[in-house]
Amino acid sequence: MDVVEAKGALPKVDCARKKRTVQHTFSNAIADRVQLRHFIYFWALPNIAAIVLLPVFGIPTGCEAGLFLVGWLITTLGVSVGFHRLFTHKAFKTYAWIESALAVAAMMAAGGSLISWVAIHRRHHEKSDVEGDPHSPLGAPPKQRDTWLSKAAGFLHSHAGWMRRHEYPNPLFYCRDLYRKPELIWVSKRYHWWVLLGLIVPAIANGIVEMSWIGALRGFYFGGLLRLVLVHHFISAVNSVCHGVGSTRYNTGDKSTNCWWLAIPTVGESWHNNHHGKQTSAYFGHRWWELDLGGILVWLMSRFGLAWDIHGYKSRNISSKR
Ligand SMILES: [Zn+2]
Ligand SMILES: [Zn+2]
Repeated sequence: MDVVEAKGALPKVDCARKKRTVQHTFSNAIADRVQLRHFIYFWALPNIAAIVLLPVFGIPTGCEAGLFLVGWLITTLGVSVGFHRLFTHKAFKTYAWIESALAVAAMMAAGGSLISWVAIHRRHHEKSDVEGDPHSPLGAPPKQRDTWLSKAAGFLHSHAGWMRRHEYPNPLFYCRDLYRKPELIWVSKRYHWWVLLGLIVPAIANGIVEMSWIGALRGFYFGGLLRLVLVHHFISAVNSVCHGVGSTRYNTGDKSTNCWWLAIPTVGESWHNNHHGKQTSAYFGHRWWELDLGGILVWLMSRFGLAWDIHGYKSRNISSKR
């Protein structure tokens, strides 16, 4: 489970006061323990296992490479288009069944449940690179980083270290809109099942193709474990690399940058300064050469009538309202 589902982790709403108060963030022993456990089981151990097993499994076959690519595309688009553009920023609207499908795809990346991810990311935008940002490369608390050693420490904090323990954004404050959709809460609560699904499906697929248990194991490794680890690093690079390395187009007052060489693996997330500049836009590429696979998916969905009320980066809807 993650912090949102841990019994006793979330703070109680103070109903005694005339105006009900909800804490913006919280920290307690249960939340700290669950965060550390999640970091160990969903980040540290998969990374170690992926490295140790790489020489064992060697070069992937065509089918195994295909399973990796399909798994990367589905889960990364789930995070970018689902968790980020749709649920966090409400950049477009779609059908309830597509919302649930995107949430499931995103949770197979093992970066936290829907509610947890959205709460943390909304907090990130609220406090970007200042005190309260969960994963700024300036550290927690943020400070000037002049030496290479200090910059490397900040990079590691924003890339992975922050997951071990940080003040938790209260979903009862940050995700009130999502709590109004019971089907999404149902999906979010089953986070661990979706992570498992993302590991098992490629194992079954490759086991059937190769008609062997070894084939199933290789499918588990290339389409499941290795894919999970690399997608983790791609998404984390948006926090670490894209808050310091690259160019800026918008004066956002934070450290966000556009980083072209991460555009493909992050399906467009690395146009991060564009995103901080125009947060509600469904499109992160703001020039024709800025490849944004997530934006292309939203555009395709709109062409097939599966997405509407789409916010463009010029602050206008490019699709008619239904
Ligand atoms: Zn965002
Ligand atoms: Zn950012």
